Amino acid sequence: MSRVYNFSAGPSMLPEAVLQKAAAEMMDYEGSGQSVMEMSHRSKVYDAIIKGAESLLREVMAIPENYKVLFLQGGASSQFAAVPMNLMTKNHKADYVLSGQFSTKAYQEASRYGDVKAVASSKEDTFSHIPEIDKNECRPDADYFHICMNNTIYGTLWHTLPNTGDVPLVADISSCILSQPIDVSKFGLLYAGAQKNVAPAGLTIVIVREDLIGETLPGTPTMFMYDVMAKNDSMYNTPPCWSIYMCKLVLEWIQNDIGGLAKMEERNVKKAQLLYDFLDSSKLFKPCARKDSRSIMNVTFVTGDSDTDGKFVKEAAAAGFVNLKGHRSVGGMRASIYNAMPVEGIEKLVAFMRDFEKANG
Ligand SMILES: *Cc1c(COP(=O)(O)O)cnc(C)c1O
Repeated sequence: MSRVYNFSAGPSMLPEAVLQKAAAEMMDYEGSGQSVMEMSHRSKVYDAIIKGAESLLREVMAIPENYKVLFLQGGASSQFAAVPMNLMTKNHKADYVLSGQFSTKAYQEASRYGDVKAVASSKEDTFSHIPEIDKNECRPDADYFHICMNNTIYGTLWHTLPNTGDVPLVADISSCILSQPIDVSKFGLLYAGAQKNVAPAGLTIVIVREDLIGETLPGTPTMFMYDVMAKNDSMYNTPPCWSIYMCKLVLEWIQNDIGGLAKMEERNVKKAQLLYDFLDSSKLFKPCARKDSRSIMNVTFVTGDSDTDGKFVKEAAAAGFVNLKGHRSVGGMRASIYNAMPVEGIEKLVAFMRDFEKANG
């Protein structure tokens, strides 16, 4: 068996130890005589899985008691609508920061449900950095303030959170969840599609402060009502059972093999540093994101010549470094280096890039 180094932005690599555990448990999960894929979500054995996943997530992320954890479907993109439907219920206003494609989509979707304002944008700089915020643009009576914490396509990260005062901060953390410790109490709501850093596609995680939920906009589908999902422990209908199980295995890996989120962050920073240090010193490759905004999960870079970019992506894939092509909307290259990517994968990629530079510089 030969496995590649997979730099896909999502769905993406899962830890090998997790895949092996899932494979070993595939035919007979803990003596149940069934795979987790096959069992009733109302069974006792499955109940322990979903409860275990939630309690582990609470422990690993240090989620305060007054926050609900919801395991939903529909991807982060469904939350672009669900967030306004559940939170834009007081003054029917929300402020959004445009830091990339997903935050722009979130803003456009929310605009269908109320008075939504783009208070800052870095679009004119092709989203190469996190925008500066002018306090005077922000509305103190907004129902919430929305950011996308890690911009998957452009490779930027909010290193310092905006101070929104009493306005609840809402963040899309699809591509940085579990990559480093975050202070959940600073947020009203966090949401993430699981397929970047948590599990296979199919699961969407919402972490929401209890007092913010209850009311919804008229016409909100029951499946989108946070309080209904919370009251039913994410089991109003069939949850994404397999993905939740995989999420539990990944959390066990972070907890037991890595040693928690502080250690996870150390490893992730080390990986990103290896790559950025090389890019900063390279004569051929140039990093795209501004230094103060660099993501530790998605590293974007170019050579400045699209033919050379294409050649690099092709030769890298042949050498076992796959999915390095940048997003179709921006071109260039992107190395997504989520939790599951080992340090060794980056060391080998850098060595390959050095050789490519010598041959093509
Ligand atoms: C991938 C991604 C999305 C879209 O997620 P889906 O689960 O495909 O809807 C949204 N936001 C961010 C930051 C992402 O990385």
